[in-house]
Amino acid sequence: MERLILFDIDGTLTRTQNGYMPFNEAIQKTFGISGDIRTVVPDGNTDPMIVKDIFVNANVAIEILDAEWPRFSANLRDCYKSAVDQGRTTVRALPGALALLQAISADKKFHSSVVTGNFEATAAVKLQAAGLASYLCRGAYASDSQHRRDLPHMARMSWEETTGKTLLPEHCVVIGDTPKDLEAARHNQMKCVLVGTGRYPLEELSYWKPEGCLPDMTDTESILALLSKL
Ligand SMILES: [Mg+2]
Repeated sequence: MERLILFDIDGTLTRTQNGYMPFNEAIQKTFGISGDIRTVVPDGNTDPMIVKDIFVNANVAIEILDAEWPRFSANLRDCYKSAVDQGRTTVRALPGALALLQAISADKKFHSSVVTGNFEATAAVKLQAAGLASYLCRGAYASDSQHRRDLPHMARMSWEETTGKTLLPEHCVVIGDTPKDLEAARHNQMKCVLVGTGRYPLEELSYWKPEGCLPDMTDTESILALLSKL
């Protein structure tokens, strides 16, 4: 039985250091207002929702038109790219992520894709910097929908279009690091495995009863065994 594994990026596949710098630069560049991502809890949220939260928290009354998001996304990509190139911001693969993606790509039963709150352009910069980009199919991003719960279905559709195959939602597994990843999986009748490499402790994640709950992704064999059983 084939399975589509939908990986979240931040806190699941990668960890970014000083990501707030390019994010805040892009806010200033796009909206002409300063905003600080460190004033909100961004985990599991999509980038447009994070920007809105930042302005709400700072009591900034601003109406952002849908047409402005592509400009924010392009600015964010440019700011991220130069911050990474200059070494001000670093994006690293979390332990076990590369080995797991390699094992999945070597196994015909499994396919890896992405469900993330990043815009597609920023996701590409992060995955490239972390050395993971070549193992993942095109998935679904904040540039496809601002609502995370829309994304797993869109990632499945994207995979089906690319491969010409079909897959039932229950044969898709979302792997993430927040309750929002689980909520999005459930909304789409998909399975979910949560990892404790983000901001949420394992005890809290297991409370939400995902199909799997792991401290990290270092035990490739066990994760593959778990995914085969789901
Ligand atoms: Mg995450």
